[in-house]
Amino acid sequence: MKILEEIKLLSQRYSQEVVGFRRHIHAHPELSYQEFNTVQYVEQQLRSFGITAIQSLATTGLVAEVQGKNPGKKTIALRADMDALPILEANNVPYKSTNAGVMHACGHDVHTSSLLGTAKILNEVSAKFEGTIRFLFQPGEEKNPGGASYMIRDGALKNPTPAGIIGQHVFPFLPVGKIGFREGMYMASADEIYLKVIGRGGHGATPELAIDPIVIASHIIIAMQQVISRNASPKQPTVLTFGNIIGKGATNIIPDEVNIAGTFRAMNEVWREQALQKIEKLAVGLAESMGGKCEVEISRGYPYLENNPELTRRIKQAAVEYVGKDNVVDIDITLGAEDFAYYSQVVPASFYRLGTRNEAKGLTSYVHTPTFDIDEDALAIGPGLMAWMAVKELEV
Ligand SMILES: [Zn+2]
Ligand SMILES: [Zn+2]
Repeated sequence: MKILEEIKLLSQRYSQEVVGFRRHIHAHPELSYQEFNTVQYVEQQLRSFGITAIQSLATTGLVAEVQGKNPGKKTIALRADMDALPILEANNVPYKSTNAGVMHACGHDVHTSSLLGTAKILNEVSAKFEGTIRFLFQPGEEKNPGGASYMIRDGALKNPTPAGIIGQHVFPFLPVGKIGFREGMYMASADEIYLKVIGRGGHGATPELAIDPIVIASHIIIAMQQVISRNASPKQPTVLTFGNIIGKGATNIIPDEVNIAGTFRAMNEVWREQALQKIEKLAVGLAESMGGKCEVEISRGYPYLENNPELTRRIKQAAVEYVGKDNVVDIDITLGAEDFAYYSQVVPASFYRLGTRNEAKGLTSYVHTPTFDIDEDALAIGPGLMAWMAVKELEV
């Protein structure tokens, strides 16, 4: 049997087992960097498939390998994230979260179970390909600094460095059965901006005796918008949003300080650095010119995610072979962020989307909501599709 047919057959055969993995992980979610039971479960499953090349790293992450013939020929890495979110699940399903207040609302249970399925399939067909497939099960995608950075620090992309890395994410905008790709620019860097505007409080009726941080903060917020509208190239997607402002005065009290917090996102690492400097300079300078002060704290998040064009084109072609041309779609950029971006800074990387939406079944909720769920039919596709992509990449 041709390897493509065999992979398809195995993906179908194991789909219920993979659904079982998914339901177990979904029912037992763990927050970022606390995925102790999840990673143990993953290791147990891998060992039950007969995979023994397993190395634990990043505290709650692991790397496993399946070698084909001529294992030194080439290595391709596949990645899944394992952490859940601090959300109280509102779905009434048999596999509902048993850890109240914690929920797999971003589909990382799906990514983990799908990659387990991929590993099982590839382990079974290993006599039919040349090279090595490395499986990265990482912690902490949802929380800075991002588990991917720890995986890289601990050597997940070394000995040898893989020729490429592929990641998959559920997509509730895309109907089940469809797979979405984007070449080049795909997701944004995301940094948190914290501004403390310091003035001098006083009576609302005697502003001349105070330094009003509310007025300074208002000027800063408005002025900041020109960092985007006048400094960023109109050809460059970028956004600055302040979603939080706290000034605890009253109708007749000018407070001492105002705190503002926001997010800055960009699709270009050079512009990202320039913009962060401009933001700081403008906030400090403006506050000073009005008699106050501004303390700026920038918490750096994930970098910009670039999908390597050649790798993306090839895995998209592999998807066409696997699910047919009609089920492969191009997707737009998003200013969401993903820590998969760290890998894309080290090796050619591609991050694609697995359709999980089903309107007829009422499965339309977006990720990070208490009603998010997927059409599990996606788990009949995901494992084999990724296995096929990996096998094809080894042949390049
Ligand atoms: Zn998420
Ligand atoms: Zn996610």
